[in-house]
Amino acid sequence: MSHDTDHTKPRRYLIIAIIVLTTMASGLAYYIFVPHFGQYGIQTYTGKFTHPAPSADSAIRYFNDQDYEGFIRHLTRYDIAFRKQELAIARQRIREKQDQTFIDQSIAKHDYIALADYLDRRNAQQRYAHEYTLGVQAALDKMIFLDKDFIGAKKLITDYRRAIPGPADLSDALGIKSRQALVDEFLRQQEIERPSYDKPRHAFFHSLIVDPTLAFDGDEDFLGYHYYMTTVDETAKILQQLYDRDYILVSFSDLYDFSDPHHIKRRQLRLPPNKKPLILSIDDVSYYDYMHGDGFISRLVLDENNEITGEYEYPDGHVEYIRDSDLMPLVDDFVYKHPDFSYQGAKGILAETGFEGVLGYRTNTGDPQLIKEATLIADRLKSQGWRFANHSYSHDIDFKAERASLEDFKKDVDRWIAEVQPIIGKTNIFISPFGYRLDPDEDKMKYLNEKGFNVFCPVSAYNDVAVYDNVVIMDRIDFDGYRMTHRPEFLAPYFSIPEVYDVEHRPVVAD
Ligand SMILES: [Zn+2]
Repeated sequence: MSHDTDHTKPRRYLIIAIIVLTTMASGLAYYIFVPHFGQYGIQTYTGKFTHPAPSADSAIRYFNDQDYEGFIRHLTRYDIAFRKQELAIARQRIREKQDQTFIDQSIAKHDYIALADYLDRRNAQQRYAHEYTLGVQAALDKMIFLDKDFIGAKKLITDYRRAIPGPADLSDALGIKSRQALVDEFLRQQEIERPSYDKPRHAFFHSLIVDPTLAFDGDEDFLGYHYYMTTVDETAKILQQLYDRDYILVSFSDLYDFSDPHHIKRRQLRLPPNKKPLILSIDDVSYYDYMHGDGFISRLVLDENNEITGEYEYPDGHVEYIRDSDLMPLVDDFVYKHPDFSYQGAKGILAETGFEGVLGYRTNTGDPQLIKEATLIADRLKSQGWRFANHSYSHDIDFKAERASLEDFKKDVDRWIAEVQPIIGKTNIFISPFGYRLDPDEDKMKYLNEKGFNVFCPVSAYNDVAVYDNVVIMDRIDFDGYRMTHRPEFLAPYFSIPEVYDVEHRPVVAD
């Protein structure tokens, strides 16, 4: 065999080997280094990578595809520096998408309040004005109708106006304007009303003297009239002075919450500025027989306009109907002229006995016609803001609390409930005859409580008020001749005696 040597053969193997090794090395290098080349702009071309190689160009592809989350993720993962402008836009778009998702979900759940809250936090009220308006509207409805939080509602409307200047058409269409009117109206009332911290006062009259020449004519009753009564003219002046001194008539139910009779609570009364709460009452209003011919009306009647008026009989026997003849029509007319003398239409309390009937009708006789007529008068008075009280049935000195036995006291209360209450209606107010006082825990008071009376009014010029669980005890001061001549300084807060006192007709009495 010839060792025929081909010199070209080994060189060819070497070249092949070099090519193979080079290819393998570059492939290896590619696998190792290419991911890092991305940032220098080298593109991948194999199917090995499911996403483009990381680069500014690949990032911009996410951006152009509006995959802003992908864009940011890509930049973050590969730490790619990028222009701030695109970054800001991407972040903004992501926020918008989240906002839209929240908006869609809130609307689907009808949770507009949460929606408004969210947009507030996002500072995105203007961009989503329609949705924000819906949210504000829902929040306002909750505040106005459920929570009665008108101050909060006002603040929300103000914030809303600030957040969305000018979408008047939108807000009107969605009813913000009408809600604002509601809130404004309420707040306007609030502005003229403030919590009253004044101690409520309570003053009382008896039936008024129409003709002082007859009352003070020197017969056996004149001293009683002088001490315990007030004339129509004096009372008209007193009302004007009370009004000038910022008193306002209120009722017990304005002052106290009786819904739980075992736990009476004070109410926070809101009154116009400077106004002082005052309760008025008038005792007896029976036009008793002994007063006949002494210058008082004989009963209350309704005139042709269905208004309360007084039936007055002159000494010669002829009868006239006089409106300025007792406290009720006087106060009604005064409040008509000065509505701010009365809180929500409150007038006063008629303290009724029963032994000679009520309101000038001798209903104690059981005459059904008289009972019917008296009931009409009582109903009319109630519709005018007057209330009634139990003033005992008998007004008998022997029933005065400290004298009467518990049994007699109970009998008197029961009789009043049986005879008087059907005419004047149920009441929780007991105005003691002779102004006597009961303690909140004594048996007689407990009996009154049992029968539904939980306001008790004795007489005292000190005008104390005490609220117990079972009863409100409120003193009353007398607006009468006795008080105007005995310790008159107690009347100083209410009216000026020299301007009121009927010097011409009242007798001069030695003490
Ligand atoms: Zn009395």
